[in-house]
Amino acid sequence: MPLPIVAVIGRPNVGKSTLVNRLAGGREAIVHDQPGVTRDRTYRNAFWGDRDFQVVDTGGLVFDDETEFLPFIREQALSALSEARAAVFVVDGQAGLTDGDREIANWLRQHPVPVVLAVNKCESPTEGLALAAEFWELGLGEPYPVSGIHGNGTGELLDLLVTHLPPPEQIETEPESKIAIVGRPNVGKSSLLNAFVGENRAIVSPISGTTRDPIDTLIENGDNRYRLIDTAGIRKKKNVEYGPEFFGINRAFKAIRRSDIVLFVVDALDGVTEQDQKLAGRIEDEGRACIVVVNKWDAVEKDSHTIYEYEKDLKNRLYFVNWAPMIFVSAKTGKRVENILALVDTAIEQYRRRVSTAVINEVLEEALRWHTPPTNRQGRQGKIYYGTQVSSEPPTIALFVNDPKRFNDNYRRYIERHFRTELGFEGTPIRFLWRGKK
Ligand code: GDP
Ligand code: GDP
Repeated sequence: MPLPIVAVIGRPNVGKSTLVNRLAGGREAIVHDQPGVTRDRTYRNAFWGDRDFQVVDTGGLVFDDETEFLPFIREQALSALSEARAAVFVVDGQAGLTDGDREIANWLRQHPVPVVLAVNKCESPTEGLALAAEFWELGLGEPYPVSGIHGNGTGELLDLLVTHLPPPEQIETEPESKIAIVGRPNVGKSSLLNAFVGENRAIVSPISGTTRDPIDTLIENGDNRYRLIDTAGIRKKKNVEYGPEFFGINRAFKAIRRSDIVLFVVDALDGVTEQDQKLAGRIEDEGRACIVVVNKWDAVEKDSHTIYEYEKDLKNRLYFVNWAPMIFVSAKTGKRVENILALVDTAIEQYRRRVSTAVINEVLEEALRWHTPPTNRQGRQGKIYYGTQVSSEPPTIALFVNDPKRFNDNYRRYIERHFRTELGFEGTPIRFLWRGKK
């Protein structure tokens, strides 16, 4: 389990960011000072006692004010809440209870996330209790008087908050990366697995089918841990002739689904076949990170151009995963096998990456300047208002537009290309969600 997330929610100006600063002890965050719409979710590490967590500040929730961007703000808060283990609902003790607070409270009650109620701007402890009392009415339990500016009351608030968070032993800060090794029969998967495990420390898998036949293999490299998925299926030697249907494609599909990243093994001698293209399509559909491992490179006659031509040709034929880096190895001699994990690490980093809303909108503006969106037959032009990353694994970016139908495949591909040119994302697919006006 990664670090639990605490969402800080409330109307604008109640003191959410001040309180987040206080809870995170001034530790660094990616902050965006753009006004209004592009107010981002910013994550900060925090701890209290033995509990580590992340605090995320959401844009101010405004329920009664029908501004154009209201749905976007709400969407941000909603996605912050959906990944949160607990929420701090901040209200303004000096302003007193407002209709906005009531609406947010109603909304919060519809979500299963435990809520701690912070009545902010209560500098004086005695007065604070009186100010806070009014908020019992919200039905969210005890209102805690606090002052984000001065810090009083925050200790009690944190004491309560951390009771909703998982204990430290359940938190794994460096999650293991789950790797699927897939490819047609005879491309060299089991040879590669042996070369791989030979070089890294193998640990017996705790999840095993039988003791003799573990399903997965765990390996360690430095501080990183990797789970090689379904290695039993790879090791199993088949003395049978391969019928046209046999290639364990369902087993491969299952392994892909369980993985974070796929080592997609192709045979340098055979090149890319139709079955390879099927696998590539599946990897992209499932949204997994990918490295293309071109095996049996020792058996290829080479001159100085060979590798470039090969790479170009393979990228064309494996267009579903043309964002995947390629490595040319020999499982037989071991050549370059030791470089695979470094590629895995960077691809996984990209797969889990979060890009700030500010940066996404800079890239978007630039893309729009180079190529304006298409105009349909009625002369109506597509408009992109703004974009924000809504999730990772793989990176998923919502683009808020006037009408998704006005963006053809060409333009969509152009946007993806532009994002890749500007931001990299090598080794991971990117998803774009084209959202029309609500
Ligand atoms: P947000 O929009 O909810 O993130 O609110 P901010 O953190 O930006 O704070 C809004 C305003 O309230 C700012 O002028 C803060 O200085 C003020 N403020 C925040 N916390 C406190 C507090 O504990 N006491 C008082 N008196 N003012 C506060
Ligand atoms: P799998 O069916 O994908 O697991 O493939 P295997 O690992 O069983 O390999 C199939 C055949 O290819 C075996 O005869 C291997 O010796 C051979 N092979 C595997 N890797 C290499 C390599 O890097 N170079 C060469 N020349 N042969 C290889």
